[in-house]
Amino acid sequence: MSFNLEHIVRKNIWNLKPYSSARSEFNLYGDTDAARLTLLDANENPNDPLQQELAAATQNLNRYPDPLQSEVKDVLSELKGIPVDQIFVGNGSDEAIDLLYRIFCEPGVDQAITCPPTYGMYEVSAAINNVKVIEFPLTASFHLDIDKILTSKAFKEAKLLWICSPNNPTGNALLKADLEHDWQASNYTKGGMMDMPFAPEFEAELKENKRLMDLLIGGFNGIVVVDEAYQDFTENQSFISRLEDYPNLVVLQTMSKAHGLAGARTGFAFASKEIIALFNKTKPPYNVNELSQQVVANALRASESSRRQVEQIIDSREILIADLHQLELIEEIYPSEANFILVKVKNATAVYNYLRDKGIIIRNRSSQIPNTLRLTIGTPAECEALLVALKSYKDEH
Ligand SMILES: *Cc1c(COP(=O)(O)O)cnc(C)c1O
Repeated sequence: MSFNLEHIVRKNIWNLKPYSSARSEFNLYGDTDAARLTLLDANENPNDPLQQELAAATQNLNRYPDPLQSEVKDVLSELKGIPVDQIFVGNGSDEAIDLLYRIFCEPGVDQAITCPPTYGMYEVSAAINNVKVIEFPLTASFHLDIDKILTSKAFKEAKLLWICSPNNPTGNALLKADLEHDWQASNYTKGGMMDMPFAPEFEAELKENKRLMDLLIGGFNGIVVVDEAYQDFTENQSFISRLEDYPNLVVLQTMSKAHGLAGARTGFAFASKEIIALFNKTKPPYNVNELSQQVVANALRASESSRRQVEQIIDSREILIADLHQLELIEEIYPSEANFILVKVKNATAVYNYLRDKGIIIRNRSSQIPNTLRLTIGTPAECEALLVALKSYKDEH
């Protein structure tokens, strides 16, 4: 017998370093004790959606689901103000990430650009599809290195440019879509100054947003993907509002974070109808199962309640930031427009292990940014538990 597994596997798959979550590192899936743990590692919404919102009909499961998810798309179309034929629904936004490589990148030939530290799946999916990744690291203050990107050979040649905004794991916005005055108006409304004239610094910021978009999206020959997994936690406008300006723009969103449905594995891509037609041609026919379609449509119809949870999470984030500032242990807290915060400490791995022993799971990001930890905003009680544990940490650990 001359069968040799390694000899017949694609080389890039044999050498693949798979995506790893904190929970798989600790074997926490299927661990009956896991319910006791405080899970602040994966940026989920800590609240389970209300049962009446989900009310999934468990009938008709003998039939295949709607391959084009019309019910979900109808609700989304209404919510986002975008036609149904500009929406793709996937098995998590991770499916959209993989499809973008499969649709646009010739294996072994084409390149994609990432701006690390950022979401790990852009690189894992590239490796699976045998696509070379060219990295343009963020600056020390976690901003895009615009000049370096624009003047590079890769910018002229790459097929995909990944921008995660707000960015995971840094938490800040990398690129802003705001152009309109209603953004200013809503800011003024919050301050109760509706009738004030628009401030010149806003005018300048809006112009700068437009300039950067024109250079980075308008000037790129491939597809620019803006991953808005954390869009619900920022006041910046969604890039969905810019789809008409840039035919090469794809915007990703997900049910996994603000909407509290990470377990239902549903994410979205918004783009021109020509690009969405390519997604639909390439995806497996029944990529989103019937149960998820029902649950997601119902949750979107009741999105008022996830909106309230998002406001609560943002309040908790600001409280936690203020509390963390009091701790000597914390050397830096990076600005966040997401449902997590990145902090710098002296010995991140020691703090991470210390919290793990106390049943609090967070994400150690030290391999990407030295001595940093990413803390998901949990319920107020979970934030308190995290704070109490951090207060009790002593450096000799
Ligand atoms: C969590 C996350 C996603 C979500 O992926 P799903 O497959 O929809 O769960 C996508 N992008 C980023 C940056 C994320 O952090």
